[in-house]
Amino acid sequence: MNRRVARLRERMAESGLDAVLISNDQNRRYLSGFSGSAGWLLITPDDAVIATDSRYYEQSTQQAPDFRLQRAVGEMEEWIPDLLAGLAGKRVGLEASDVSYATYRTLRKAAESLPQGERPRLIPTQNLVEAIRVIKEPEEIEAIQAAVDLGDAAFSEVARRIEPGWTEKQAAWEMEKYIREHGGEGIAFDTIVAAGPWGAMPHAYPRDEAIGEGESVVIDVGVRLDGYTSDLTRTIVLGKPDDRFRQVYDIVLTAQLAAEEMIEPGMSGEQAHLLAQRVIEEAGYGEHFGHGLGHGVGLEVHEAPRVGKTSKDVLAEGMVFTIEPGIYISDWGGVRIEDLVTLENGRVRVLSRAAKLVNE
Ligand code: ZN
Ligand code: ZN
Repeated sequence: MNRRVARLRERMAESGLDAVLISNDQNRRYLSGFSGSAGWLLITPDDAVIATDSRYYEQSTQQAPDFRLQRAVGEMEEWIPDLLAGLAGKRVGLEASDVSYATYRTLRKAAESLPQGERPRLIPTQNLVEAIRVIKEPEEIEAIQAAVDLGDAAFSEVARRIEPGWTEKQAAWEMEKYIREHGGEGIAFDTIVAAGPWGAMPHAYPRDEAIGEGESVVIDVGVRLDGYTSDLTRTIVLGKPDDRFRQVYDIVLTAQLAAEEMIEPGMSGEQAHLLAQRVIEEAGYGEHFGHGLGHGVGLEVHEAPRVGKTSKDVLAEGMVFTIEPGIYISDWGGVRIEDLVTLENGRVRVLSRAAKLVNE
């Protein structure tokens, strides 16, 4: 039986659960291999069921051979009682951050429609599967590396071709096109291309505005490839950077390299964040770095661990996360540099290889 399901069963036993209903798309894919967009998993100590509708009978049988298919015909209230049958008095975990209130009510009604004595108890759970996903298997790191390589290539291609007069949207589209033409499923999130003062917004959207000579441009792009994602930011300049840009860029790069050099397993997300934050603070820009240093990346582009102020997440071997300090100044612009890294042999190994501006 599949290793990931075995790990989940251990966690169920630790949490006193007799069964778990998985509804989250990525968790369903992670545990079963089924990549379709609808379906539930029911996992008990000795059974693993996938309930999905007729669009996916074929695909789920092929992709999730370890799971027994239950055909979900009609509305959820019609088939869910069958799925819950046999769980009399059992503690059945639900994914509390995924199940909507309306779905919860449907589940509860279905449980109550069973004869007294045959009803399961629905128990909200948090992070049951996410806590397993946070440590990547070697094959997952390879899959992420492939997504990273494609993102690096898309960025490098556009960085080579971009010139004054291109619009932000055009640069974003050229990267997206490159990703699709080179085997990517698509982008992992809306691409950010933000020139000049627009770059002062960490999550700026690309505009129809032409990029001018000498302007700095923050480019943040992510790839989805074989289900896995990547996340990369570089800040470039069209032409010659001015002194202020050089100074700010140098601080952000120093902060990033310090974090990449010093982060190690056992640190909390907060401690990791502070390594970069301190460099930026000492340079006098503390209040211009408002967001967290990074976030986990895997099947989702934002997942555990959280690397930022107040994060108690403990960093461990096999985790994959970003290191992306930035400085943002209203009416001037921003600089962010983001690499994707993993923890291996007690230290950071950087997965991103796209060139950074070299300080002179
Ligand atoms: Zn990013
Ligand atoms: Zn990011």
